[in-house]
Amino acid sequence: MSFIRIWMIAAFSTVAVNAAVTQEAKHDLPQRVPVPVERPDTKSSVGKIKPAEEAGPISPPGEVLRAAKKDERIYQVACPVLMSGEIDGTLIPPLKENNCGEQSPLKINAFGKETPVRLAAPVIINCAMATALVEWTANVSALAQKHYHSPIKKIVTGSDYQCRRVNNGSSGRTSEHAFANALDIISFTFENGKTTELKSGWNAKGAEKAFWRDLHKASCKRFMTVIGPDGDAAHENNLHLDLGCHGKDCMARICQ
Ligand SMILES: [Zn+2]
Repeated sequence: MSFIRIWMIAAFSTVAVNAAVTQEAKHDLPQRVPVPVERPDTKSSVGKIKPAEEAGPISPPGEVLRAAKKDERIYQVACPVLMSGEIDGTLIPPLKENNCGEQSPLKINAFGKETPVRLAAPVIINCAMATALVEWTANVSALAQKHYHSPIKKIVTGSDYQCRRVNNGSSGRTSEHAFANALDIISFTFENGKTTELKSGWNAKGAEKAFWRDLHKASCKRFMTVIGPDGDAAHENNLHLDLGCHGKDCMARICQ
């Protein structure tokens, strides 16, 4: 074989390989279309959730966040009370864990714009809860002014987002906490330094009892479910507030 013949074979082979690579690259491009993140499958069985005792501590939300692929768009919604500054918080990535989750959760440090009321620890709830809690906090502050002659400064909360069943049961309904649609209230600190806890305050005397009873009544006008110490033993030290749907049109309320 002459040198020229060998050179020609090598040159034609290179052209053929280059053409194949170009074809492959062209074929690849249209496949990269952003896909929306699926909503939590609320129809699937709740049997996948382990009882709280077996499951151990619920993972911090950061560990269950769905990692987005490089060129994938995550669809979330804006929250008006976050945009207007009526809450101090941020929109965080979607939560998805078995059939629990929320597409547009908020991590909140305080409620209120002019005189924000801080939370002892940040909470993760949905926009509807955040909106209801802004008005509720102003309401509670007015009640504090009435009974303690001092507005509220800080709120200590219990459960916020948590993938579990109602009352940590091993069977039964999935809790509204599992959809970031609930928050438990434990105690308040007032501007004048005084504090009150639900557990001791619910049946206390005078102003303290009146404060908690008025607060319970006011809560029932803003939330769809309110469960306090008179509801069941699981709520002797925390007031459960949620915006769950009761009744055919989601218009029924539970106030206990
Ligand atoms: Zn609760």
